[in-house]
Amino acid sequence: MATSNEKPSRADEAPGPGSSTNFIRDLIDAERAAGRGRPVVTRFPPEPNGYLHIGHAKSICLNFGLARDYQGVCHLRFDDTNPTTEDVEYVASIQRDVRWLGFDWGDKLFFASDYYERLHAYAVQLIEAGKAYVCSLSEEDIRKYRGTAFEPGTPSPYRDRSVEENLDLFRRMRAGEFPDGAHVLRGKIDMASPNLKMRDWPFYRIRHAHHYRTGDAWCIYPLYDFAHGLSDLIEGITHSICTLEFENNRELYDWILEAVGAVRPAERPHQHEFARLELTSVLTSKRKLLALVEGGLVSGWDDPRMPTLAGLRRRGYPASALRDFCERVGVAKNNSTVDFALLEHVLRDDLNLRSPRVLAVLRPLEVVLTNWPEGEVEILDAPSWPADVLEARGGAPLGPREGSRSLPFSGVLHIDRDDFMVDPPRDWHRLAPGREVRLRHAYVIRCDEVVTDASTGEITGLRCTVDRATRGQEPLGRKVKGTLQWVSAAHALTAEVRLYDRLFTSDAPGSSGEVVAELSPASLLTVQARVEPSLLGARPGEHYQFERLGFFFVDPVDSRDGHPVFNRTVALKDTWAKLARVEAGPAPRAAAPAAPAASDRPQTAAAPRVEVALSTEAARLRDAHGLAAEDARILAGDAALLGFFAQAVAVPAGARATANWVVNEVGRALKTAGAEGLPFGGAAVGELVALLEAGTISGKGAKDVFAEMVKGGGSPRAIVQRLGIEQISDASAVEAAVDATLAENAPMVARYRAGNANLLGALVGLVIKKTGGKASPKLVNELLRQRLAAG
Ligand code: ATP
Ligand code: MG
Repeated sequence: MATSNEKPSRADEAPGPGSSTNFIRDLIDAERAAGRGRPVVTRFPPEPNGYLHIGHAKSICLNFGLARDYQGVCHLRFDDTNPTTEDVEYVASIQRDVRWLGFDWGDKLFFASDYYERLHAYAVQLIEAGKAYVCSLSEEDIRKYRGTAFEPGTPSPYRDRSVEENLDLFRRMRAGEFPDGAHVLRGKIDMASPNLKMRDWPFYRIRHAHHYRTGDAWCIYPLYDFAHGLSDLIEGITHSICTLEFENNRELYDWILEAVGAVRPAERPHQHEFARLELTSVLTSKRKLLALVEGGLVSGWDDPRMPTLAGLRRRGYPASALRDFCERVGVAKNNSTVDFALLEHVLRDDLNLRSPRVLAVLRPLEVVLTNWPEGEVEILDAPSWPADVLEARGGAPLGPREGSRSLPFSGVLHIDRDDFMVDPPRDWHRLAPGREVRLRHAYVIRCDEVVTDASTGEITGLRCTVDRATRGQEPLGRKVKGTLQWVSAAHALTAEVRLYDRLFTSDAPGSSGEVVAELSPASLLTVQARVEPSLLGARPGEHYQFERLGFFFVDPVDSRDGHPVFNRTVALKDTWAKLARVEAGPAPRAAAPAAPAASDRPQTAAAPRVEVALSTEAARLRDAHGLAAEDARILAGDAALLGFFAQAVAVPAGARATANWVVNEVGRALKTAGAEGLPFGGAAVGELVALLEAGTISGKGAKDVFAEMVKGGGSPRAIVQRLGIEQISDASAVEAAVDATLAENAPMVARYRAGNANLLGALVGLVIKKTGGKASPKLVNELLRQRLAAG
């Protein structure tokens, strides 16, 4: 649809070159500097099993952006190897969304399903080379035989089938002789590899299912790792960019390509991983979004509350704002969650320059001007653009309603109910009995009388007087601080306005397990608003700023000629965020280098939390050792840390605490130590955690010991002795200190007994001080409680 008030500036043209560099650009630059440069060929490989969401936008901007900036090409490839979840509807929507974001794949549109015959030929080639075999273990047994991160796998009893037998079975698999699950084709790689992906990962499975493109031609389907790398090879991809969960897949990716003969690194694709985009309060999983659509919890994939590109577009997000946002977020190698406020900040910046200003009243309250001549209508000429916006647009054409519009002013107006208060606080600059305000582009009025409904007491209107000397003039001898939006009652249109807010109350939806329970009841509020008459000409797809209220978008689906429906894209600014910042100290910083926090959330000010879908390995670590999900994810994604953890956890100490130490302390130390590594291994970390847990050392002591270990290695126990920081865990020695402390602090003890339980901490501190810092807080705590309870 032709949108007439699109901002014809930088962001609207074809997306320009990315201004900031990233590690993938650095890598390509280095390849070129070393004379190994090739024309860049990237690909965006969605699975057509749902609509694209804002996370995909990051991948699209990255892949297409690289191709653009390095004079290469980016393919759009549908990674459609799972017959049961894919659909043409999604193929169409994905193409629409990529185009809308501003990118073009030219004639490079591909489908992995078009490669089935070639992929099958590769599989046969691997069988013939003795590099793949048909395994007849059940899915569950394959998993069991695979082992864990800490134990090698056990070879399948079918691993040594002859090439002939494998070829025969694979042929019969394809011919449909076996039911689902009877056999799989697996790579013959290395059951002792520390990388689970290398333990004979499956390449093909039997699935008697209809595929949306190949119909019933196939009943065996290649699995992700097999299909993906080989599709890259077939298409001549140079840089195959994926998200961090696939880090462990890289070794398998390389193995498969080399096994089929792509042995010259300079001539084959390489996989590079980057951090996926996660946003506070936003679900970025097609599967979970599908559940919302299928459950009827939203109106569809393009519900303006959805983080899908279709939803954001309908809500009024310009593509340029999303591209700017992706640029601001950057491309990193470690996962983090970006505060939603950053997205809204970028969005407002973009909308500000493309949205003419209009007046609208969401909850009308009638104002009668008692000194306005009966029946008189004055037509005001009101500028649609503030001076700073005109300047920023640098003379760019203004759009449909151009520089100004006519505003009828009359003796009966509507203002917003929220702008009037009977008994306001002192710093209220809006209307109240006896107070004055300016009406935007018009006059100053004073409220003389409040009209209430006799039976309910509800305020039904105001009677005011207008000062006609104040149009474009300061009132004489007094200051009027507030300016309100208004409409003329007889001239305004009634229009449906949809006030959207966050879909979820939680900052990390789904973290409680039940997404539905976290849906916000306030995510959509529909009001019949009164809007200025110039909006009769508003067309679907146009952006407006309703002054003082927010940016609004004419809904492209439900608007009819002369009956625009407005979606609130984003509120103007958020007073909530400011309040919360004052109360809660500095706002949590977004991961990106910028942006004052400004958001529109009604909930509490929690720091951004990280919630990333766990890879299978991370989930396994979490379940096997009871780890926190975040720790499990980091361990699974970092071979060095995982190695430390595997050794550390062998020492009997709490696995959770051990994981935490490995992720935080060891992780930090490794970063500083760099390639030289650390002078100790995982077992020492396990020992340290065990000392801490036994109460032999305090938390602070453990940190000191760890610092010593980083400096020069050595056994934690020996370091504890050398530093003399062993805590007194002998109860009788501590008891004496407890008794003395209680005797010396009788008033505090009395207050504690009178119900001030907070004082326990202070008493613990006093006892520890008395022991020269050597008593274990846990023991002191226990002893104190006993004594205080005994009375
Ligand atoms: P989902 O879990 O939502 O289905 P997906 O990764 O399975 O996501 P694909 O269709 O396979 O969806 O994704 C296509 C491409 O988009 C992949 O290269 C994937 O890495 C990338 N991608 C998906 N989600 C994100 C995200 N949140 N941030 C960045 N890139 C993403
Ligand atoms: Mg995927």
